[in-house]
Amino acid sequence: MRSLRILVLLGLVGHLLQGLASPASPGRLIAEMSAYAQSGTYAEVVRFCRDLERTHPMAAKCTQLGVSEQGRDIKALVVSKTGVLDAATAKRRKLPVLLVIGGTHAGEIDGKDAGLILMRELLADKGPQNPLNHLVVVFVPVFNVDGHEARSRFSRPNQNGPLETGQRTNALRINLNRDWMLSQAHEMRAMLTLVQQWDPLATLDLHVTDGLRFRHDVSVSISSHHGAGPLVKKDAQTVLDAALAHLRGLGHDPLGFYPQLKDVNDPGLGVIVEADAPRFSHVYANLRNRMGFLIEDHAWAPYAQRVVTCKHTLLSFFQVIASMRNELMHSAAQTDAQTERMAGQELPLLWVNAIDIEPTKPAPRVALKGYAYQVFDDAPVVGGRGIAYDTSKHQDWSVPFYGELLPIADSTVKLPAAGYVIPTEWTGLIKPLLQLHGIRFSHIAKDQVAQSMEVMRVDPRQVIYDTDSFQGKQRTSVMGRWSAQSATVMKGSIFIPIEQPKAILVAHLLEPSAPDSLSSWGWFNAAYETSDYVADHRELELIRWMHEGNPLIGQIYGDALAQQLPQIRQGFEERLAKDEAFRLDPQARVDYWMSFLPSQDPDLFKYPIMRSNGLLSQGRPARRK
Ligand SMILES: [Zn+2]
Repeated sequence: MRSLRILVLLGLVGHLLQGLASPASPGRLIAEMSAYAQSGTYAEVVRFCRDLERTHPMAAKCTQLGVSEQGRDIKALVVSKTGVLDAATAKRRKLPVLLVIGGTHAGEIDGKDAGLILMRELLADKGPQNPLNHLVVVFVPVFNVDGHEARSRFSRPNQNGPLETGQRTNALRINLNRDWMLSQAHEMRAMLTLVQQWDPLATLDLHVTDGLRFRHDVSVSISSHHGAGPLVKKDAQTVLDAALAHLRGLGHDPLGFYPQLKDVNDPGLGVIVEADAPRFSHVYANLRNRMGFLIEDHAWAPYAQRVVTCKHTLLSFFQVIASMRNELMHSAAQTDAQTERMAGQELPLLWVNAIDIEPTKPAPRVALKGYAYQVFDDAPVVGGRGIAYDTSKHQDWSVPFYGELLPIADSTVKLPAAGYVIPTEWTGLIKPLLQLHGIRFSHIAKDQVAQSMEVMRVDPRQVIYDTDSFQGKQRTSVMGRWSAQSATVMKGSIFIPIEQPKAILVAHLLEPSAPDSLSSWGWFNAAYETSDYVADHRELELIRWMHEGNPLIGQIYGDALAQQLPQIRQGFEERLAKDEAFRLDPQARVDYWMSFLPSQDPDLFKYPIMRSNGLLSQGRPARRK
């Protein structure tokens, strides 16, 4: 009760300070004025953004990247001391652009306050070491603005301040850091448009961990598995290592991976690294051949400390990227060029932690700075397993480290020689998504029968629908077999050349085995639904006619089938005689006969997207020089 009263008092003081601060004061944030007990509302962000622009008109621009689901403006602050504050000039002058995102999960709000304070300090700094002398930073202080305004004292139960925080999802309850591929949310569509405009060399997405107790104050993840070629992957690791070294120099204790406990009730059993999918910002960046860093402050550090950690983390990345800018820009361009030449190459699309493939393989150990803890087999009060940490006692842990990620063999595809074809009827849904992702495509100008196509038949036994909803969707896993054949391609269909810098992103959207493909998000479920059938009595009637050689079969299905009926019957008799399982299975006997008749629904289980391995008439865009 006592602590609750103090919290309430702090809240009142915070509100008072907020009120006092509102008319002027570009200088200090509510967070600073309340000794980090509070974080301001979104109105403060808008004011601060405009004030920085007013104070530094040559080095800061307060822009709007879009509107939230509830109609709030989403602000982006562009800062640079290069004299360039617009995307077109940045691109023309080949300046490195960094995208910094705060408040994707609006309760994890360190990045907003840390970023705003850092921008204020860097803008005031006239020194030669200022990384803004070389970089353009596009800072979105709060991505999930509606979630930010849905404030509560209880939305972050595993986090040490500030007093009130926003919620994790947007107003439609979409988790924005799972929405980078599907972009269901207004906010994400605005963000993808910004990404197309600015083409950031690196994305820094600012979060807070979700509960594990340890003494490391920040962990940073990159995608070492999905996406980009070796140059960008190597660069991301180099930048990460250098930024972590820089952070250590500032007195921090960072980790270069996001640890999750293998068993939430016993750290001694090891930590595991998840094979994050492209729906996360840091993996998505890699699919575009750019670097992505997922930055997670440690939730149990006090808010004041977390904001400093986040500010130093940003500064470390800015410094490192500024110092390596030329080679990093070169690698990104080279990787784009290499990705354009991926036709026919193999690409693994689904990765998992090695433990899922080789569960008994011994793991190396990792040293972590933790706390003393007690594992219960019969937890107090509630019984069952449980754990209690004693944060008054530091303890160094040496625990198994399950950090190896491996591709699932079945998920590896051979990219088509030419590209993918989206049939006309699907373009209305898919084209807006291609545009949002900046994928090049062209329209087929006339109906044609295209040779060198591949069509996939999905195996009915391998269509598995998730029982739970995720992001409001029922996800689907399908497997099938691509086969070479000619196919009708109608006017208005879309051809997506594989020869483009976003070839990996294209494959991840269109290949069914990819974890965030349209297929995996359930877009094509209708292709696997039986919508019409042959009634049992009609099947029996047709089978009896076939069996007795009734001329009606010839009249309905043609002479060719009628002439085969004696052999079909003979095959049936032979199988009956030697295959007992067949003889005892009426459905198998029905299926035998019906398999000789044309299907009433030939498109059932046909995957809608086609691969193309040859030229399509008038479909191929001119080769980009
Ligand atoms: Zn988060």
